[in-house]
Amino acid sequence: MLPKTLTLLATYQCTAACDQCCFGCHPRKHGRIPQERILSYIDQAAALGSVINVVFSGGECFLLGRDLVEAVGRAHGHGLLTRCVTNGFWATSERAARRRLEPLREAGLTELNLSTGDAHLQYVPAERVRTAALVAYELGFGLAIMVETSEERAFTKEHLLGDPLFAALHRRDPEGLIIQENVWIPMEQGRTIEHDPVHYRCADNPHLMKGCHNVLRNMVITPDEDYVVCCGLTMDQIPELHIGDAGSEPLAGIAARADRDLLRRWIRVDGPERIIQYLQDRDPTIPYAWNRVHPCEACRDLHHRPDLRDAVRRYAGEVAGDVLLRFNLAEAAEEVLTGVGVNEDDVGMADGLTLARVRRPRSEPAPAQKPLVPLPMATPQAR
Ligand code: SF4
Ligand code: SF4
Repeated sequence: MLPKTLTLLATYQCTAACDQCCFGCHPRKHGRIPQERILSYIDQAAALGSVINVVFSGGECFLLGRDLVEAVGRAHGHGLLTRCVTNGFWATSERAARRRLEPLREAGLTELNLSTGDAHLQYVPAERVRTAALVAYELGFGLAIMVETSEERAFTKEHLLGDPLFAALHRRDPEGLIIQENVWIPMEQGRTIEHDPVHYRCADNPHLMKGCHNVLRNMVITPDEDYVVCCGLTMDQIPELHIGDAGSEPLAGIAARADRDLLRRWIRVDGPERIIQYLQDRDPTIPYAWNRVHPCEACRDLHHRPDLRDAVRRYAGEVAGDVLLRFNLAEAAEEVLTGVGVNEDDVGMADGLTLARVRRPRSEPAPAQKPLVPLPMATPQAR
């Protein structure tokens, strides 16, 4: 299974320092992927033939300035769709927003994603997000605004719609101005964020327990130039998802081995919650609180908790044939869907708009991670 998205986390530097930012970004984080390497990753991704879009995120990708415009232009030149994910800090006025967005439109940018909510508002006023969105809409970008949600939050989608002009536009064209509320999850050990139980991913809410459409289809390059197999919120806390050093090995080589791990394939077809459910069925002594609200939280549990890791090793072999069959069928189905113009992202989850922590200086190469569960047999996908 080859990736369809290249996500470039060029820097973890950000103008904000949101509490529980999934990648621990803040203004004093230094280091970025050098521009010639960014352009090389875009060229390599295009050469794969499977990639259809490039996402620029971070950190704050607008800190790249003219380099961002050049990179968007490079991706557009390859015929790829492009998305920038930003907190909108730069939209201090309509004029300022135009100054930033018009060159990106000229370069071929297709979509802008804005993030806001209680944590973001400590650093970027909602007014800037509205200004950025209105100018982006006028310039014809695809547009989505993500609003953090938790039980005790003060700022909601309705607050954003408190502006009459903004509200009228959203009423008239909800698809052109998508506003989505996303659960905000704790990233630090010992921290909790309360949520309404309707968000709990458990047997009472089976519709929430889905396969992960992000893993293996997203190819992520971190500021350290790690190759990661998804852009999940907790991906930087899960070493097994970092499978190579893109700075020293071509993307094609790393991508070709990304799916040679049974657990990754199992996560793709069933999602981490159903895997934990299976492990608990097999061994009822395994405790689990079932109050996770995001798949990447459960995925972190699966990779971090020794009892769950041990259970994966004990029981994964039982499901190997079934997982491989469904993985292959799903891949074939995706090809058909893509052929008739259905975007699989529309039915996906864990789109990982946010970022992770710098874990080591660039000078230390990324160790290639061993699969937690190597595939027990060669398959047609094992390239
Ligand atoms: S959540 Fe987004 S805006 Fe906030 S610090 Fe992290 S990257 Fe920056
Ligand atoms: S559940 Fe999240 S962390 Fe796990 S593989 Fe999917 S996107 Fe990545």
